[in-house]
Amino acid sequence: MESNEMTQEVCRAIDAVAHLLIGLSTEIHKAPELSFEEHRAVRLICETMSEARFMIEEGIAGLKTAFRATHPAQSPGPTIAFLSEYDALPGVGHACGHNIIAATAVGAALAVGKIKERLPGTLQLIGCPAEERYGGKIIMAEKGVFNGIDVAMMIHPEAKNSGTPKHLTLVPLEISFEGKSSHASAAPEQGINALSAVIQTFNSLNALREHLSSDASIHGIITKGGERTNIVPEFAQCHFSIRSTNIAHRNELEEKVKNCARGAALAMGCKVNFSYFDRVYDPMRINASLDRTFLKNLGFLGANVTTEVEQARGSTDAANVSQLLPLLHASVAITSEGINLHTKEFAEAASSETGMQAMIRAAKALSMTAVDVFASENLFNQIKEDFLKARENQS
Ligand SMILES: [Zn+2]
Repeated sequence: MESNEMTQEVCRAIDAVAHLLIGLSTEIHKAPELSFEEHRAVRLICETMSEARFMIEEGIAGLKTAFRATHPAQSPGPTIAFLSEYDALPGVGHACGHNIIAATAVGAALAVGKIKERLPGTLQLIGCPAEERYGGKIIMAEKGVFNGIDVAMMIHPEAKNSGTPKHLTLVPLEISFEGKSSHASAAPEQGINALSAVIQTFNSLNALREHLSSDASIHGIITKGGERTNIVPEFAQCHFSIRSTNIAHRNELEEKVKNCARGAALAMGCKVNFSYFDRVYDPMRINASLDRTFLKNLGFLGANVTTEVEQARGSTDAANVSQLLPLLHASVAITSEGINLHTKEFAEAASSETGMQAMIRAAKALSMTAVDVFASENLFNQIKEDFLKARENQS
């Protein structure tokens, strides 16, 4: 059967389950669950997938809300995985629209699953918890969940239709200072103030900012600054998120921030220790052929697409997956430009009629893209070549 007929068939399959996908997305949206607490969302998704005869493995990578749903191969071929996210944010709920990501991936898996016996290879839906915090996919990557997958695909709701944005790499640096406690008023000369070292670190860093390039982003908070005003703080700590477009520059920035802290420790007579308070996020590796195929399909379905590669200002754990295998992380417009992620307005868009229609169209484009890759060895090889080329250019 021609790939063309099959792409039409997956679109019809999405139309047939549209009510189910809108229901699933709405259910997840109205009861937001925080990172690693997404039990209800996972139950709803896994029930749906198991009814469609996917083989379900829950609690993979040692994470209770991670899962894999597999449609095994009838004949040898590539393994393609749709990635699903479903966690929300405190206070603003689904202000990142992960309910849309979840339902889009489920829809694409159901639709491609329906015609799977005519395609070679294995189809998977991977449930990825805790994108907003803890970097769920980074843990899953470390545990080998993505080994053996040839191509991974997901979409993220946004204010425009475009390919995978270039997310920034991030180092989460924790700096701890050890001083010496003393009575702050009666015997200050016997104390060593660790909080002063933290404050000095911020001041040095602020002076340094003038000389940083525009792709550097460093922001911090004080996490420990003493217990009582009448005790010289013997322990103080701060956290910095250090981001850049590439790993070499990020490492350079990390060293500069550490030098600010080392200087502050020397000035105050403190000891300084460095560690990470979270996982290290990689930069996104773009796969041009995957992006192009998805945008062609989304455009064919009537979406207004832009082919310009966007430089994202944030980071995502999916970028660590993009370092291991070809990944599509395309942006799908669910609202107009000017409405940003992580706002109340975006949360509203993620359950709006416009948002749901965009979700259905994205599920079609995603399943069409998977059919294209499954059915065309040329395209599959091109995607692999792009991955290797991008890896060379990165290092
Ligand atoms: Zn998100």
